[in-house]
Amino acid sequence: MANRVCEGDLKVSPLSAAGKHVVIVGGGDTGADCLGTAVREGAASVTQLDIYAQPGAERDEDSEPWPTYPKIYRLSAAHEEARELRTAPAADADARLFAASTLRFTGDERGNVRSLHLVEVDEQRLAVPGTGRTLPADLVLLALGFSGPDQEDGMIEQLGLALQPRGTIARDDGFATNTPGVFAAGDAARGQSLIVWAIAEGRAVAAAVDRYLTGRSRLPAPIVPTDRPMVV
Ligand SMILES: Cc1cc2nc3c(=O)[nH]c(=O)nc-3n(C[C@H](O)[C@H](O)[C@H](O)COP(=O)(O)OP(=O)(O)OC[C@H]3O[C@@H](n4cnc5c(N)ncnc54)[C@H](O)[C@@H]3O)c2cc1C
Repeated sequence: MANRVCEGDLKVSPLSAAGKHVVIVGGGDTGADCLGTAVREGAASVTQLDIYAQPGAERDEDSEPWPTYPKIYRLSAAHEEARELRTAPAADADARLFAASTLRFTGDERGNVRSLHLVEVDEQRLAVPGTGRTLPADLVLLALGFSGPDQEDGMIEQLGLALQPRGTIARDDGFATNTPGVFAAGDAARGQSLIVWAIAEGRAVAAAVDRYLTGRSRLPAPIVPTDRPMVV
């Protein structure tokens, strides 16, 4: 919807960053998407907070040898746009504040958020004395991570699906849940992930369902439920 508003083919958005001081809590890709949208909507300022320290520019060959995915400083297209449009007077040049932990919000007499108070943290996430600061904040977007499939629409409860400790749907080696005939794939079962994993899960679960229905399957099953990205 935000894309359609920015493209001009949808006039009204229920939520707009136009003219507002925007603070995004969360330094990941979802936060970057929020940042790009807020910049394009004409925010007065945009700041993205990341709890982690700014990563280095080079891969650490000891802890993250190729071909593992390295934690290095990356400038997404959204950050480049923010930098060009100079919408981040409160933050570093690319609109991000690293090692930043939110302490509290304050609002106006009508209950609207007006500012965010933060502090710099060390590697143990302990506050660094004397680093407290306040950012103007008319719109705060929480991009703090996937919290599991929505449990309020009743589907999980109605189907009696067991969950894993982190709130995702539990399944066995063949993608089957504890309810016969019900299979789970994608973020809802794997947890927060990427499109490539969702595609692989979709193909693999199709083969599992085919096997469940017909007793065998010749469909490709690129992954098993426990496959994970390569780590050291
Ligand atoms: C803001 C954001 C940015 C992202 N950016 C990237 C990126 O740049 N690159 C990348 O690779 N990944 C990205 N991801 C992750 C990627 O979107 C997911 O990993 C992927 O979409 C998971 O696919 P999925 O099919 O498991 O779930 P989804 O794509 O979430 O699809 C689930 C579908 O189920 C529907 N649904 C839910 N409940 C019910 C119900 N009861 N009945 C019927 N339908 C229902 C939902 O409406 C939805 O359409 C991003 C995620 C977010 C949130």
